Amino acid sequence: MIRARLAPSPTGAQHLGNARTHLVAYWALRKAGGQMVLRIDDLDSPRVKAWAVDQAIEDLNWLGIDWDVGPFRQTDRLGQYQATLETLIHQDRVYPCTCSRKDIAEALSAPHESRFRGEGPIYPGTCAGWHVGDAVPEQPFCWRFRVSDQPMEFEDDVLGPLVCNPARELGDFPLTHKDGKPAYQLAIVVDDLQDSITQVVRGNDLVPSTFRQLDLYRQFDREPPRYAHVPLVRGMDGRRLAKRHGDTRLSHYRAAGTRPEQVVAWAAHSLGLIDDQRPRVAADLIATFDWSKCEHDDSVIDPERLFDPPAAASS
Ligand code: GLU
Ligand code: ZN
Repeated sequence: MIRARLAPSPTGAQHLGNARTHLVAYWALRKAGGQMVLRIDDLDSPRVKAWAVDQAIEDLNWLGIDWDVGPFRQTDRLGQYQATLETLIHQDRVYPCTCSRKDIAEALSAPHESRFRGEGPIYPGTCAGWHVGDAVPEQPFCWRFRVSDQPMEFEDDVLGPLVCNPARELGDFPLTHKDGKPAYQLAIVVDDLQDSITQVVRGNDLVPSTFRQLDLYRQFDREPPRYAHVPLVRGMDGRRLAKRHGDTRLSHYRAAGTRPEQVVAWAAHSLGLIDDQRPRVAADLIATFDWSKCEHDDSVIDPERLFDPPAAASS
């Protein structure tokens, strides 16, 4: 049984880029036949907004995306993340790390430029000498995963075959925050296993994280899902969509009179899935969905002009 998930992060409103990723996840899953899980990635507690959960669900409904299971919430699964962490401690696959960002920067004599920009420096291994049974530090620490010094490979549905040796290119990474809360990498793998997810569709900014997560699947001796990393949406300056580019929240377009059919058509057209921008409902694009047509490169848009005038095309 194929299972995919919609995994909005309610740290703010869902914007056009999120909409496009959710739509692709929906088209691919409905084309293949299977179950869609809705999971709210609400672990990032200081940044999570209560209104954003309801709004994300409204946005999905407005776009015409439906799901079969859920919504689940990460905050309901804290016990599972903790149990998995304890297993990894027991296996001596993690160690407590007290380093600050500054400590890490200072320990690196010649930081080299990784091919994955924005992933931060490769952890220099300062705290890696700890082994299970040793006393844990008195200062605050995170639990850091010892990555493998061997290639992690997968066949991306959009990008084709990809490979990376996490020890050489990414470094040991945190599985918790210093306050003890589970970090993204731990939670996402526990969740996708728990939800029996076989197909992950997400933004291509998460490709480096996929190699980290493959290392976790290997440690758990579990089959990883298939991955499809879809292009991001960028503003005219080439940077990832943000407030400075104007208001790209779905709720904003909705309030301005834009029709969901216009957003759906823009999403499919900008990914190369259809040839024109005639408004369409999401369900109408399932039958023709084909990964091989999907654009690899990020899109550049002018959010203010995208649906201008808002409702003209659907009248
Ligand atoms: N919640 C994440 C996001 O909105 C998705 C996480 C994942 O797919 O791994 O980007
Ligand atoms: Zn450390």
